[in-house]
Amino acid sequence: RSVAFRFRKPDGVFLWVEANVRWKDDTDGFVVSIRDISARVAVQEQLLEANNQLQRLAMLDGLTGIANRRCLDSCLEREFRRASREEIPLSVLMIDADRFKSYNDTYGHGAGDECLRAIAGVLSQSLRRAADLASRFGGEEFVVLLPGCNEDTAATVAQRMCQSIAEQTVNVNGAIVRYTVSIGVATMDASVEGVEALIERADLAMYRAKSAGRNRVERWQPGLLPAAVATSA
Ligand code: GH3
Ligand code: MG
Ligand code: MG
Repeated sequence: RSVAFRFRKPDGVFLWVEANVRWKDDTDGFVVSIRDISARVAVQEQLLEANNQLQRLAMLDGLTGIANRRCLDSCLEREFRRASREEIPLSVLMIDADRFKSYNDTYGHGAGDECLRAIAGVLSQSLRRAADLASRFGGEEFVVLLPGCNEDTAATVAQRMCQSIAEQTVNVNGAIVRYTVSIGVATMDASVEGVEALIERADLAMYRAKSAGRNRVERWQPGLLPAAVATSA
């Protein structure tokens, strides 16, 4: 009995109206009433936009503006299933800022935060495909997802990221400062049972990069030591 539609006014602004038809008792006559509902529609649109904005924010890391852990978890689950189903490769990079505790102690926490934002920037700018994802895993650790990417390509991407980060400099109170990351590469294969196992492999490879001297990329390989053992090196 009621229908909403819009007119474009001469000034280009839309006028939303709602038309109602009411039949007069025992006659063929009816009354059509039309009222301006532009204000109501505007409020609905604002609510919708606010809701979309909230959903976007819930997926983003507050400090760096890239995807957060929650977003990574859901993308990783989805890409893992897709990779299993379609038998396409899936690679992950575990990226950890080197000696970051000492970076904070030396230059201050604010400079540390700035550094994390810069690393996040390099990671996201290094990605090429729509399904690639750069995310903050937590603290000074990041995870990059590379769906459809085999181990060699993933290692090349990781190498490029590692190098771009090492080439950056920041000015902290007049001092020219450099920072580096260590990256572990893991690619899904038939022996990887789930997303945790894949992340664990990338983590093991990352710890190998740490113990081999930092500022480098290492690939997962069978027999890598658990993180707790590798860090004591
Ligand atoms: P390694 O090369 O072995 O990774 O050494 P590390 O010092 O980076 O490792 P460790 O895990 O001992 O320290 C991580 C540090 O990262 C500790 C913490 O102060 C810093 N950190 C974690 N999250 C943040 C953050 O959000 N902002 C800043 N500024 N620092 C952070
Ligand atoms: Mg760490
Ligand atoms: Mg670290």
